[in-house]
Amino acid sequence: MDFELNTEQRMWRRAVHDFVAAQIKPFAAEYNEREETMWPAIQQGGEQLGLMGMLVPEKYGGSEVDALSFAIAIEELGWGDGGTALVVAAHNGLGCAPVAMFGTEEQKQRFLPPVTTGERGKLAALALTEPNAGSDLRGVQTRAELQGDEWVINGSKMWITNAGDADYIVTLVRTAPGRASNTLSMIIVPTDTPGLHVGPPEKKMGLGTTHSHAITYENVRVPKENLLGELGRGLHQALQVLDGGRISIGALSVGIAQAAFEEAIAYAKQRTAFGKPIADFEAIQFMLADMATEIHAAWLMVYHAAWLKSQGRPFTHSAAMAKLFATEMAERVTRNAIQIHGGYGYSREYPVERLYRDARLMTIGEGTSEIQRLVIARQALKNASTLV
Ligand SMILES: Cc1cc2nc3c(=O)[nH]c(=O)nc-3n(C[C@H](O)[C@H](O)[C@H](O)COP(=O)(O)OP(=O)(O)OC[C@H]3O[C@@H](n4cnc5c(N)ncnc54)[C@H](O)[C@@H]3O)c2cc1C
Repeated sequence: MDFELNTEQRMWRRAVHDFVAAQIKPFAAEYNEREETMWPAIQQGGEQLGLMGMLVPEKYGGSEVDALSFAIAIEELGWGDGGTALVVAAHNGLGCAPVAMFGTEEQKQRFLPPVTTGERGKLAALALTEPNAGSDLRGVQTRAELQGDEWVINGSKMWITNAGDADYIVTLVRTAPGRASNTLSMIIVPTDTPGLHVGPPEKKMGLGTTHSHAITYENVRVPKENLLGELGRGLHQALQVLDGGRISIGALSVGIAQAAFEEAIAYAKQRTAFGKPIADFEAIQFMLADMATEIHAAWLMVYHAAWLKSQGRPFTHSAAMAKLFATEMAERVTRNAIQIHGGYGYSREYPVERLYRDARLMTIGEGTSEIQRLVIARQALKNASTLV
């Protein structure tokens, strides 16, 4: 068993960490306060580090990194700013990945190169969720009908990250009636297609630097060649994409928790009460010890799932466990970081309240904790091993 990153992965971590420390973390508070996307950093990260093409092969303009390096990058970005990490994670893992995984040669050549630059308006998005269907994707109602050589799409989606600045939106649509797994398909919809309306950013609790939108499709016509992969494979494709996405949400949660932990340590050392630093109180030390232990456990789980993926081994179960534990851990850790800050923890002057609000999404997006538990329990009931 080898817990060492290889030289390339260590250098990658250092490069992303230094970039985030210089270009993202110092500006996170003000951008979040203004609810503004960090375009300068996203563009620079795209150009200098290839952060916007991490799952795209070089021949289509990407920087294709292994699954562990992708998790490392998202963790580091999460440490700097949760919202920016989500922009990058959703762009790569949800928007680019399905085209790279299931696209034809022509689709890859056409859709991928423009979105690997980090340019404003050149993000990629994945639209699964609808106003009446989130966890239950078999309930998707947005329809696509083949009329001549075109798909005609009608319906609506909800909460689509990056949609307002996307070049294309991979859309899960109903291509047959019923709830069977072969009734849904994925279609690539360029955002300049007439009839596609992206709503304003939703007003959210946190993650001010990322935006999610409602979308309506009114007789949106795209060429039949925009079908992604095989007809009727959309649900299967979506679940495969979400398996990878869950590792990155786990990594993002580890990054947020690590940031909160560092804030808590620094504060505990400088704040005094009853004549000594609060770090001297056992109650505070025990909170810090639990935080450190849980962050470490989540980190191991996330890296293990990413390692399985990079080995081409089954990782659905490990990704679900990593996401479940890491996201719930981040909520506990950020909660305790506020507790250690006392009243100041509740103030916007200190970053921990933002970290808490940012962490809160993680147990919901890309499959709620309840859905992760269903995935884990299903596997456990089939095979009592915890290591699958
Ligand atoms: C900021 C943000 C960004 C997002 N980005 C995207 C995006 O880019 N693309 C996209 O497609 N979606 C996106 N989503 C949507 C997100 O994936 C869904 O919100 C999530 O999957 C849950 O779906 P829902 O909101 O419809 O909740 P529901 O499915 O209605 O669930 C409500 C509650 O019921 C529980 N529940 C549901 N079914 C079961 C069950 N079988 N057993 C036990 N409990 C159950 C859930 O766990 C939850 O607690 C985003 C959401 C947010 C808030």
